[in-house]
Amino acid sequence: ELGFGIKEALDQLGIKEINEGTSTGLNNFSNGEILESYSPVDGELIGKIKTSTAADYEKVMESATAAFKQFRVMPAPQRGEIVRQFGEKLRKNKEALGKLVSYEMGKSLQEGYGEVQEMIDICDFAVGLSRQLHGLTMHSERPGHRMYEQYHPLGVVGIISAFNFPVAVWAWNTALAWICGDVCVWKPSEKTPLCGIACQNIIAEVIKENNLPEGISCLINGDYKIGELLTSDKRVPLISATGSTRMGKIVAQVVAGRLGSSLLELGGNNAIIVTPDADIKMTVIGAVFGAVGTAGQRCTSTRRLIIHESIYDKVKDAIVSAYKQLRIGNPLDENNHVGPLIDKHAVEMYNQALEKVVAEGGKILVEGGVLSGEGYESGCYVKPAIAEADNKFEIVQHETFAPVLYLLKYSGTVEDAIAIQNGVGQGLSSAIMTNNLREAELFLSVTGSDCGIANVNIGTSGAEIGGAFGGEKETGGGRESGSDAWKVYMRRQTNTINYTTSLPLAQGIKFDL
Ligand code: NAD
Repeated sequence: ELGFGIKEALDQLGIKEINEGTSTGLNNFSNGEILESYSPVDGELIGKIKTSTAADYEKVMESATAAFKQFRVMPAPQRGEIVRQFGEKLRKNKEALGKLVSYEMGKSLQEGYGEVQEMIDICDFAVGLSRQLHGLTMHSERPGHRMYEQYHPLGVVGIISAFNFPVAVWAWNTALAWICGDVCVWKPSEKTPLCGIACQNIIAEVIKENNLPEGISCLINGDYKIGELLTSDKRVPLISATGSTRMGKIVAQVVAGRLGSSLLELGGNNAIIVTPDADIKMTVIGAVFGAVGTAGQRCTSTRRLIIHESIYDKVKDAIVSAYKQLRIGNPLDENNHVGPLIDKHAVEMYNQALEKVVAEGGKILVEGGVLSGEGYESGCYVKPAIAEADNKFEIVQHETFAPVLYLLKYSGTVEDAIAIQNGVGQGLSSAIMTNNLREAELFLSVTGSDCGIANVNIGTSGAEIGGAFGGEKETGGGRESGSDAWKVYMRRQTNTINYTTSLPLAQGIKFDL
């Protein structure tokens, strides 16, 4: 007995003992090897998935490319109506899907529900957007001419996603891609395949109820090899890939090799600057949630705290004492703050990070360690740790995808803190805690944070769907979700119409015949 209503949730979402990992929209089939999904919560086998073969992939692509021909001519507001219905289905399944996310990925139940809420929110956003896919009208330099731009659907969008947001990242992409008239082929993380199956089951109902062409939403499952079929496929004009910088560098090159487009959402190394004018109470809440929430497995998790020397000890003591109150355990139990890491490999990486920081001269302030005994049978539960470190340490320069927080001290001005904050390869999320207007504005200015997300008096972790989400440098440069992120899912066309009886050339060129 799994408890917490997991069994019921799996039933509601159509998850079986053995699941077909390949779906062409309505038809599920699969001929690949079996992938097993174990929960990091209790180490139990949740279900098995038949992965996709290259031949299965071909069938998926045939289905997707055929569906695109039909879907692209459906008016955008009607496509919006489909996304609206999808959002409604998500509302009905929020509890079940949130539980599955929590159980298969290990994040807290509240965060599991929050992830599904993000899916619902992006659907609402996309519905409104389906009537606002605007282009500009420009004045032509030639008399009797009209010039404007318009956006057309792109085609098949390939989505590769990471384990830590096993459902929301897919929805950020699909909700926008669908209203734009694209069809999607999704390869979820091999660490959270059942979340993918559940999402596909939900959208399949909408496709069926609306008599839509099969192939609008396709699913393939497997490891990086099935992902490579997608990235190297000329029939896929856009690859949206979320995951590590290591993966992004490979995917970017493969997609660029065929001159396709890629939208990359890669690793972060996010910092909060704490200046002498910071509100310490707010800083502690933001930093602790940022560092230990989702067991430090968010791309926006707080990795580094850059604290001014004048308040260093005060902030350090407050954070260390807050860590003492953290309850680590089953994330489905809402009394716990910190759940497990995704798997034993992640635990190994966590242990290595702690060894490395000490080897490089760091000082452990809050001891880490792997938990064992009752409630920790999966072997994936670790203690959130804090180390005093230097920004130059190799380990600090890399993203440690676990609850390890590095404290860095700065002296001098906020410019010095900004230099430390920017002094890493990644550029996803950043924050400053200050009540000083000058410091805040400088942080947001052209000489301030070099990240895609820069916050004032908020931590680094999490974001709203209304803004464009993504980061610079090794984070990949892509933008997803809100603002005008939709434009990446469409192709832009500039149109000029001559309504006169002569043919004047641009730039005043004369060409008399
Ligand atoms: P990962 O890079 O190991 O895997 C991500 C996905 O890429 C998986 O589906 C995997 O199968 C696939 N993949 C790996 N190699 C591939 C290849 N050569 N070709 C095609 N597909 C390939 O990442 P992960 O461990 O699942 O996730 C954690 C990482 O994701 C962290 O670095 C985190 O910061 C990042 N992340 C970034 C964002 C963002 O929006 N910037 C969001 C979530 C996670």
